[in-house]
Amino acid sequence: MKITFYGAAQGVTGSKHLIEVGDFKLLLDCGMHQGRRQESNTLNKELPFDASGIDAVILSHAHADHCGMLPVLVRDGFAGKIYCTAATADIAKFILEDTAGIQENDAKYFNKHLLPGQPSIEPLYTQRDVKKVGGYFQPVPYFRLSQQWTRLNENIRFKFYDAGHILGSVVTLLEITENGQTKNLAFTGDLGRHFLPILRDPEFVTESAEILITEATYGNRIHRPVTDLEADLKQIIAEAVTKKSKIIVPAFSLGRTQELLYMLHKLLDKNEIPSLPIFVDSPLSQKITRVFGTYTSDFDEEFWKDFGEKGEGAFVFDGLTITGSIEESKKINDTDGPCIIIAGSGMCEGGRILHHLKNNIEGPNNIILITGYQAEGTLGRKLIKGVNPVRIFGVEYPVKAQIKILNELSAHADQKDLLSYVEHIQGLKNIFLVHTELPQAEGFKEAVLTQHLGLSVEIPHMGQEFEV
Ligand SMILES: [Zn+2]
Repeated sequence: MKITFYGAAQGVTGSKHLIEVGDFKLLLDCGMHQGRRQESNTLNKELPFDASGIDAVILSHAHADHCGMLPVLVRDGFAGKIYCTAATADIAKFILEDTAGIQENDAKYFNKHLLPGQPSIEPLYTQRDVKKVGGYFQPVPYFRLSQQWTRLNENIRFKFYDAGHILGSVVTLLEITENGQTKNLAFTGDLGRHFLPILRDPEFVTESAEILITEATYGNRIHRPVTDLEADLKQIIAEAVTKKSKIIVPAFSLGRTQELLYMLHKLLDKNEIPSLPIFVDSPLSQKITRVFGTYTSDFDEEFWKDFGEKGEGAFVFDGLTITGSIEESKKINDTDGPCIIIAGSGMCEGGRILHHLKNNIEGPNNIILITGYQAEGTLGRKLIKGVNPVRIFGVEYPVKAQIKILNELSAHADQKDLLSYVEHIQGLKNIFLVHTELPQAEGFKEAVLTQHLGLSVEIPHMGQEFEV
C-alpha cells in the first residue's frame, strides 16, 4: 500500500493522509490548514489530489483541522461515504457551518476594502457547500458498542476505538489485505489524555499492527497531572476576585470550552470558588454544548458521579451565561470584574475573543488565561512568548494584562501517554509521526528509538509518499 501525507506533516493542522490499496483510495481526515492567515489561504486553496478519485473518507473527529475541507472535497466531485461516529457527524456540521460563515464574512470584509485594481476574493466555501456534505456521512459506532467491523471493500475493513480527545473522536484500526498478505494500520487521529473530565480515557488498540500513524503534538513534553490544574484554576480565580479582574479565556468551542465549564461547575458545587459571572461568548459553543447532551453515554464514570446520577447537566449552573447574538456579546463589556469570559477562537486568530482581548488587554488587573495549544505564528503564541505590544485588528495594543498558562487542559496525549500507546501495540514496524511541529516530533522519535531500536520512525514532510 502507499501512504501519502498531504497535511499535518511537520505541522499541527490540515490533517489529510491518503492510503492507496490497489485502485482503492482512502482518505484519513480532510482537514483545513489553520494558523497564519496568508499561508493557510494558500494551502487551503485547492486539494492536493483529485477529489473525484477518492473512494471513502474516515474522519477521526470534528475539529476543523481534521474535517474543514470536506465541503471542498464534495464540491470537487467526491462521491463516496464519510465514515465517522454519529457524534462527530453532528458536531462536524456545526463546525463546517461556522467555518463557512468565517470564510464568507472574511471575503465580504476584504472585498469591501479592496485597493484600486485589486481583484475581489471568493470564500473557500459557502453554507450551500456545507449543506451538501451532510448527505455523505455514514455513522459508525465504537467497536466496544457494536462489536462489528465495517467493510470498505473485499480487502479493507476497519473498527473504531475511543480516542478520548473530544466527543466522538476515534482511533481507527484498518485491516488491509494486499497480494494475499494482511497488514493492520492504526491511525490515532488526535489522542486524548487519561483522567480528563467528561470523556472516557483513550482505548488501547488490542490487535497487533505493523503500521501506526500517530499524532505527536506534545511528543517532547510531559504534562502535569490534571489534579494540579484544579488547584491552579482555584488560585487564579481567587486572585481575580481580590483584584476584580476579568479573566479572558481563548478556547476552542469544541472540547476545551466544555471541559472548562465542567471544572468550574464542579468547583462551584464544592464551594471551592466563589460564585462569579461566567460568560461563554460563542454561538457555536451554544450549539455544540447541546450536542454533548445527546451523547452522555460516551461520558466517563466521573461525569456520572459528579452530575449524571443527580440528574444534573454538567453545563448548566448559576452564574453561567452562554451568549449567541452580537448584542449580547457586546453587553458583556459592561460587566465589571471579577468575571470569566470564554470565547473562540482558541488560538486568538479570529472570532469574538479578539474583541474581548482588545477591550481588556490593557487592564493590568486582567488575566489572559491560555488553556490550549497555540500554533507558531498565531496571536496566542505571541502572547505566550511575551510579545509586547501585539496587533489586534491591525492596531497595536500594549499587553498590560497578566498572561497565565494552563496547558495541562490540553486534550492531547503527552510523551508518556504516546509512548505507552505505542507500547500497547504488538508487532509494530513503521511509525509515522504527524500532527506535530518538528522539535516535538524529533523529541518523540528519539524517545521511541531509545526503547525500540528496530522500529522505523518517520516524520513525513508535506506530500511525502511511502510504500509499506
Ligand atoms: Zn483535535
